[in-house]
Amino acid sequence: MSLISSMTSSNKSYFYIRFYHYQSTSFICYYFLIPGSILSKYDVSECLNPNSYTNMFLLNTFSVVPIPSEVLKHALLRMGEYARNMITVNIEGRRILEMNVTAHDVSKVMNSLEKIKVEDIAVTACSMEQCSICLKEFYNETEVPNIVRTKCMHVFHQHCVARWLKQCCISNRLYSCPLCRSEIQWSYFQIRI
Ligand SMILES: [Zn+2]
Ligand SMILES: [Zn+2]
Repeated sequence: MSLISSMTSSNKSYFYIRFYHYQSTSFICYYFLIPGSILSKYDVSECLNPNSYTNMFLLNTFSVVPIPSEVLKHALLRMGEYARNMITVNIEGRRILEMNVTAHDVSKVMNSLEKIKVEDIAVTACSMEQCSICLKEFYNETEVPNIVRTKCMHVFHQHCVARWLKQCCISNRLYSCPLCRSEIQWSYFQIRI
C-alpha cells in the first residue's frame, strides 16, 4: 500500500477505547468509539484552547467517567499521543484501533506509596521527623505509626495523606505531594494498546 493511500485510510480509522475506572474493590468499564481524526489531534495547544471543537468533544464524551477533570485532561493528552503513534504504524490501514485505559481511585494511589518504619526516616535525604500534615512527631507516638513515603521522599501518616488525596480528588486537582506539590499521578492511569 502506498504512503498516500495508507494515510487516507488512517484518517477514517476509529479508536475503540475501553476505559476501566477502578474504585477500592470493583471497577466499571466504559466503552468509547472515537474518530481517529479527533483523538489524534488532541495535544497541549488543543487542551489549552477552550474553544477547540476537539477539546469540547473529548471532555464532553469522557465526562461520564467520574475522575477529576485535570486528571482526565492529562489522560487525554497521553491518549492523543498514543493515537498519533498508532495511526502512523497502522500500515495495514485497520479501521478500528484498540486502546485500554485504566484509571485508579485514591485507595489504589495510596497502595502505591512506599510504607516505611520510624527507624527508616533518619536515613532519608529529606529527613523529617514529623508528619508535615498534622505536625505530630512520629517518635512520640504511643502506637507504631503507619508512615508512607512519596517518590519525592516526603513522609506522612498514611491516614493524613489519604485525607489529602481525597481532597485533591474532590477539588479536581491532580494528586500531588502536600509538601512540595510534585505530582503523585504516575500511578493514576495507564494505557495499553
Ligand atoms: Zn499526620
Ligand atoms: Zn514532596
